[in-house]
Amino acid sequence: MKWCKKCVLPSTRPNLVINSKGVCNACEQGKIKKQINWEKRKLEFENLVRRIKKKKAEYDCLIPVSGGKDSVWQVVIALKYGLKPLTLTWKTPERTLIGEKNLKNLVSLGVNHIDFTINPKIESKFMLKTFEKSGSPLIPMHLAIYNLPVRIACTFKIPLIIWGENSAFEYGGVKNDFGANVNAKWIKKYGATNQTNAKNWVSKTFTEKDLSPYMLPKKGILNKFDVEGIFLGYFFKWDPINTMKVAKKNGFYYEKSNLKTGLYDFADIDDNLISIHHWMKWYKFGFTRYFDNLSIEIRNNRINRKYAIEKLKKIGDQRPNEDIEKFCKLTNITKSEFERKSEKFRNKKIWYLDGKKWKIKDFLIDSWRWK
Ligand SMILES: [Zn+2]
Repeated sequence: MKWCKKCVLPSTRPNLVINSKGVCNACEQGKIKKQINWEKRKLEFENLVRRIKKKKAEYDCLIPVSGGKDSVWQVVIALKYGLKPLTLTWKTPERTLIGEKNLKNLVSLGVNHIDFTINPKIESKFMLKTFEKSGSPLIPMHLAIYNLPVRIACTFKIPLIIWGENSAFEYGGVKNDFGANVNAKWIKKYGATNQTNAKNWVSKTFTEKDLSPYMLPKKGILNKFDVEGIFLGYFFKWDPINTMKVAKKNGFYYEKSNLKTGLYDFADIDDNLISIHHWMKWYKFGFTRYFDNLSIEIRNNRINRKYAIEKLKKIGDQRPNEDIEKFCKLTNITKSEFERKSEKFRNKKIWYLDGKKWKIKDFLIDSWRWK
């Protein structure tokens, strides 16, 4: 297990590669990001808007939204450039009160909105299945947020889908995937679905029809439908602090006490399940959401690596106990079953037993309090 010497991410993170100088691709990309001519990118966006508006569709674009800071940012920009959006939410079975409030605020900015609920009987079973099989209970959520918008865009004949940040660019990936366009290949690689699509999960338990909201429309992939998928983070600089400020100006609300996981008290707050997704990274890859967030802060020169390490020492592994309870209730399993199922995904290439305690070999921090 190697650690990037600029940020605090390990080589075990999917799609993260550490070069011979000990620097990861996400940090290298951070350097590239600083050299981007954003004025030129803005013109590219204006051209795109002109091209889309010529199509004279009922809605110019579809924006997948949760009500969170990034989705407000997406909607604000779309409206500013004169696009008429339809907004769409995959309704998490565990939406928080603050999530509800922020979603209401987002719609009040002046957009039509669909709150799409997937059959809860299917969804909770599907979550449990992906948790048991690949240690990722939120594969259904990630499949829904990337595939459902395409289905709805095709139904309403909407020519453009506007996603937020390109995670390949922001968290590590390869150059060919840094562009503006989202397609089926990108989703499989970076969409946090363990390189699966919904078809891979069809079984005796779930028919293809049961899983249709998680699938792309039948005939093929995105672009063949004349539905274009873009990342707004290609055209406008994405930075969590900046999108939070834009969102706040437009009614987005959060409190310090909303912090669920990681560093930001304004992110990952609209549902009670995302923290479980992040938590499993600890077992599988030996880092937590806090490492991700701190690394972004380092790349934006807001903190240095030494400070990040001190923060990590203080905060520890951030086990999301309350959310684990909620997840157990939703999927009808006990807490000890959750333990047993999680334990299956402890990566023995990096973890070892020291007496009764699990520890990580070559961990970033020597004085870590192992539990
Ligand atoms: Zn790095």
